Amino acid sequence: MTLIQDFGGVRVRAPGKINVFLAVGGRHDDGYHELATAFQAVSLYEDVVATASDELTISVTGDVDIAGVPEDESNLALRAARLLAEETGTRLGAHLDVRKAVPVAGGMGGGSADAAAALVACDALWGTGLAARELQELGARLGADVPFALMGGTAIGTGRGDRLNPALARGRFDWVLVESPFGLSTPDVYRELDRLREEEGAGASAPAVEATVLQALRAGDPEALAETLRNDLQEAALSLRPDLRALLDRGIARGAVAGLVSGSGPTVAFLAADAEQAKRLSRALRDEGLRAMRVHGPVHGARVV
Ligand code: ATP
Repeated sequence: MTLIQDFGGVRVRAPGKINVFLAVGGRHDDGYHELATAFQAVSLYEDVVATASDELTISVTGDVDIAGVPEDESNLALRAARLLAEETGTRLGAHLDVRKAVPVAGGMGGGSADAAAALVACDALWGTGLAARELQELGARLGADVPFALMGGTAIGTGRGDRLNPALARGRFDWVLVESPFGLSTPDVYRELDRLREEEGAGASAPAVEATVLQALRAGDPEALAETLRNDLQEAALSLRPDLRALLDRGIARGAVAGLVSGSGPTVAFLAADAEQAKRLSRALRDEGLRAMRVHGPVHGARVV
């Protein structure tokens, strides 16, 4: 069976994510923080179309502002393709056409989704046939969120967030995301967290995902999940972007069962009781001039479409 499609290339779709729980522990010498997180992949997708070429090249288009996305060797999708080529020894090339829908520098892992999609697309295009476990291992070398974009669904991440265990989740969770006109750099948010902790003299305890989160996910119960949502980066993101606090209040006032900053922000994710409520909430927020979109989770990880 070949995965090359009629147009002579491979199209792969990979999801953005929401961290429904993110506990941040201490900082290691390599600069990374110890994490315990629960990820949910949501229905906002990046598409990467890989077509045969002599070299490795990239172009980026999107429904979101792509001004911050490099089109050079530093692009995560291109780095992913290059890593796969090096590891497998292939001399084949590819052109990667990246079509973005996940807000850039929004805390939803869009770049990581591009890397995951590029790995799967090039593996199929080049016929290198790596096992899922091998792709995961390459993904972890590109970025802590890449393995989850490959896996999708709902998962617990420890270490840098890249040691994954799938979690059981029933039913579907409905979310309304509000995009921000300016991104936040993930390293800046971690630095701010360190600064705030130092200022408060607060040490970081060993992070762990609370059992109540897993129960809520397993039960498919948004009200129960609302009680357990947690993001240790939220305070730091709000310190850098105080306007997000009013946005969180606004979503709750318009009926969300809970709201939180997604990952390092500044995208804000509101949890709704069901699809109907999410529809009403996104309409209300859009009427107020905000960029609100409805998504649901969990959804599949990177795969050929
Ligand atoms: P995180 O995975 O840390 O939550 P994020 O979702 O906040 O990241 P991304 O959109 O993944 O942010 O990108 C963060 C930065 O990575 C961008 O500002 C950009 O400079 C760089 N970058 C490299 N490759 C890509 C890519 N393919 N798409 C988007 N950004 C990229």
